[in-house]
Amino acid sequence: MSSSRSNEALVFMGGTFDPVHNGHLRTALEIQQWMGVEQVCLIPSNTPVHREQPGCSPEQRLAMVRLAVEHEPALCVDAREVLSEKPSYSLLTLQSLRAEIGPDRPLCMVLGMDAYLGLPSWHGWEQLTDCCHIIVVCRPGYVYEPDERMRNFRRVHETRSLETVLGSPCGRVLMHELTPLSISATQIRQLVAKGLSPRYLCPDPVWHYMQQHKLYVIEEDS
Ligand code: ATP
Repeated sequence: MSSSRSNEALVFMGGTFDPVHNGHLRTALEIQQWMGVEQVCLIPSNTPVHREQPGCSPEQRLAMVRLAVEHEPALCVDAREVLSEKPSYSLLTLQSLRAEIGPDRPLCMVLGMDAYLGLPSWHGWEQLTDCCHIIVVCRPGYVYEPDERMRNFRRVHETRSLETVLGSPCGRVLMHELTPLSISATQIRQLVAKGLSPRYLCPDPVWHYMQQHKLYVIEEDS
């Protein structure tokens, strides 16, 4: 992952992207514009450790993310998790990104509210902010109901200032409201499994790829 502006924040959004959809893409694009960075990078996971196994292979999910951002210079893809032999722990990804960019450059991980509230189940979650800032975006259908640990975490790390985030390498949590798009990968998989079209919820090339590879289709017993 590279940026021609060597001191600007490196901003990324990880996910299963099973499949990537317009909720992910619109979020990433609005974050790129709001933060004023050159690009936001999408990092599809390999074997997810926090959830049930995806409906298609890591390579297929990566291929769909590539198709989704192909004509959008503000978004890019990083294949490090898919290409890695190790399970997809965000902490490992963050450490590898940090090693690449050095100790001083801001590193920001974008999370939807659902993912943010699930952080305590992540491997080494309390060390994440030693490596990066966390940008939390509200997501329709997910109410902010933190438990005690997350209330403490927020108390320690929260800032309301984008300048603070852009002026330091890591350590802060910043909540940000975006255009809410009530789209989920689950909804898309369910539509396709019922033989219905997910068109306009994800980019057409992603939908064409799903059709070509018969992804998420439930085979009928003959
Ligand atoms: P699934 O329905 O299979 O759980 P998903 O749609 O939540 O999938 P993920 O790949 O799990 O997609 O999400 C990756 C990241 O994108 C997470 O941080 C998640 O919160 C965020 N995200 C997903 N959909 C949206 C959306 N519509 N708006 C904002 N953020 C989203």
